[in-house]
Amino acid sequence: MIRAYTKAEVREAVRQWKKEGLTVGLVPTMGYLHEGHASLVDKAVSMCDRVVVSDFVNPTQFGPNEDLESYPRDFERDCALLEEHGASLVFHPEPAEMYDPDAATFVEILSEMPKQLCGKTRPIHFRGVCTVVSKLFNIVNPDKAFFGQKDAQQLAIIRKMVRDMCYDIEIVGCPIIREDDGLAKSSRNTYLSEAERSAALCLSRAIFLGKDMVKNGETDAAAIKAAMTREIESEPLARIDYVECVDGSTMMPVDTITGHNLVAIAVYIGKTRLIDNFIVEGDLVQ
Ligand code: AMP
Repeated sequence: MIRAYTKAEVREAVRQWKKEGLTVGLVPTMGYLHEGHASLVDKAVSMCDRVVVSDFVNPTQFGPNEDLESYPRDFERDCALLEEHGASLVFHPEPAEMYDPDAATFVEILSEMPKQLCGKTRPIHFRGVCTVVSKLFNIVNPDKAFFGQKDAQQLAIIRKMVRDMCYDIEIVGCPIIREDDGLAKSSRNTYLSEAERSAALCLSRAIFLGKDMVKNGETDAAAIKAAMTREIESEPLARIDYVECVDGSTMMPVDTITGHNLVAIAVYIGKTRLIDNFIVEGDLVQ
């Protein structure tokens, strides 16, 4: 596996591969990799000849009071996992390699979509995500890019950005990978104390409860949200940011579950903010 630290190194490797007629997949990450990330790499390896993984804690998607400094990092461990899963190149730039000191150009979706759900408490987050992903697309020039359903709003926003900006890149969504006890895997789970770790199970319990209700025919979004809220509020260490039923493409709230909907939650466990969701697709719950 090539370790690349500059845009030039990535471009050189990709140029060579494309000359050989090989297809290239991109998996953008912020590092501190776990099986959730690994599942994206596996999917990319199965669909592309060469796989580039970016490992970069992107400063522009963190708000001023968020965890940019404390975000966990372990590049050597990440490399070992990526080698094991067959990545061809890891791109691990310094922030200065990605952002000129006078960088002033951003990619931002100017609809309501990035203002919903996580956008309510993280107003600049998706502008940072779109900007860095757009840069990665321009650096790597992939045929396909892989994103987790874990960050469902991000996935929907990236799909919209790709359409709006005419990127010739197929976006592949990948299912949420969970711990054995149900908690969605996340680099931020490492922040949790032992007590918080067990408290965090209220998120997946609420998700499974909502999923069951939909499976059993409940279509009233208010009823689903109320039941999920009660489940989360039964946990004293939990503080709800949002529990929402939205349209799967626009992220706008819905009153009735009809299909192609997303049920998403964000909950603080102590100081750690965790997210989880499930998709409703017609009669099917994914
Ligand atoms: P992050 O490093 O947290 O920015 O995540 C990088 C990519 O991995 C994003 O597309 C995430 O949606 C995806 N991802 C993170 N956790 C999971 C998970 N538990 N299951 C599936 N994908 C995930």
